[in-house]
Amino acid sequence: MRIIYLLLWSLLSTGLASAQSRTHKVVFIIADGIPADVLENAATPNIKKIIAGGTYLRAHVGGDQGTYTETPTISAPGYNDLLTGTWGYKHNVWDNAIKAPNYHYQNIFRLLKEQQPAKKIAIFSTWTDNRTKLVGEGLPAAGNVQFDYKFDGYELDTVAFPHDKQSLYTHAIDEKVVAEAARCLRTNAPDLSWIYLEHTDDMGHRHGDSEQLRTAVAYLDAQVGQVWAALQYRTQHAPEDWLLVLTTDHGRDAATGRGHGGQSARERTTWLVLSTKEVNAYARRGQPSIVDVLPTIARYLQLPLPVATQRELDGVPLIGPVSLAEPRVQPAGDSLRISWTALGASRTEKVNVWAAATNNFKTGGPDQYTLLGTVPLGRQALSISRQLYPGAFYKIVLEGEHNTVSRWLLPAGSPTPGSGSN
Ligand SMILES: [Zn+2]
Repeated sequence: MRIIYLLLWSLLSTGLASAQSRTHKVVFIIADGIPADVLENAATPNIKKIIAGGTYLRAHVGGDQGTYTETPTISAPGYNDLLTGTWGYKHNVWDNAIKAPNYHYQNIFRLLKEQQPAKKIAIFSTWTDNRTKLVGEGLPAAGNVQFDYKFDGYELDTVAFPHDKQSLYTHAIDEKVVAEAARCLRTNAPDLSWIYLEHTDDMGHRHGDSEQLRTAVAYLDAQVGQVWAALQYRTQHAPEDWLLVLTTDHGRDAATGRGHGGQSARERTTWLVLSTKEVNAYARRGQPSIVDVLPTIARYLQLPLPVATQRELDGVPLIGPVSLAEPRVQPAGDSLRISWTALGASRTEKVNVWAAATNNFKTGGPDQYTLLGTVPLGRQALSISRQLYPGAFYKIVLEGEHNTVSRWLLPAGSPTPGSGSN
């Protein structure tokens, strides 16, 4: 009896140990400018296979329409929404010129490298600015991040990839990028990788909703299949578990499918594929957005985010336990009504409600937060006196046990950012 007991115990603990020692790694792919309806109606056997074992979510870009978080449905702002987990009013990238990104809102590569320098990061990209400007590789202001593996710049090599009038060269570059990614993932298995693919957007601009765009999505599907095969290989041959996140940076206009940048439903509506079924109540609630990807990646990598960063994130993790979402702050007569949607399962969970009257984070400084109250999560609201807190500007932070969300109170009549002035 005792021997059987010991045997069982040793089997059990071996199983536990091997499960615990599997390293978590992430690959995220941005495939440019594919509206949700286009992806959903395309023949995509590889992507559908990943969805069958994972999760497909409709999502959005563009911030909250008509508010201070509204962000153009343009490529570089979209990538930076994902990289920083914040909208344009924080990361300050408003178009593809990427004039003055605010690097105080740290990207996911920097957050990983600053806390866990031994982790390896990789970029495979059909647009060099993604590395040099958005992540800001090697820039002191951006934290001197260095990629361990980088494959990009092919669009500048007009000998190997001559620029043809039909923009088919971007397909050739995407193919090169994916081949390098698949090879590097198989052999080097970096901890966090970004694959960026451009051809779908080029075909959208050139031909709109068309056979050419559908063909480009079919190319993408085959490329995703190559990446997925590399991840399967690693999962089977190394003690590693992999999360693949596949998404797009914006939709396209409804009339022709050629343009994007505005706030129409089709431009704002995007999608997310996650290679896991284990999504949380927030994800299942519908309407996640591109800024949810950073906290999702951090959680999968078991990367704790600094408190100051958590207080600035505009997203909510899509996996793991979650406390609350949808923060709202409304002046109501002599009081300020702060409310949220409770998602946590625990009846005893509490929320700390904080306020800061400054925004020093924007320039690299600390903000002093005052605790306004600690209330049961399920109450979903707190009202405070405007006499006690008369300021016109507050950053209100709602800190649950499992995640933190925030909302700004702005002076009445404040212009929404993003009109190009900053
Ligand atoms: Zn784009």
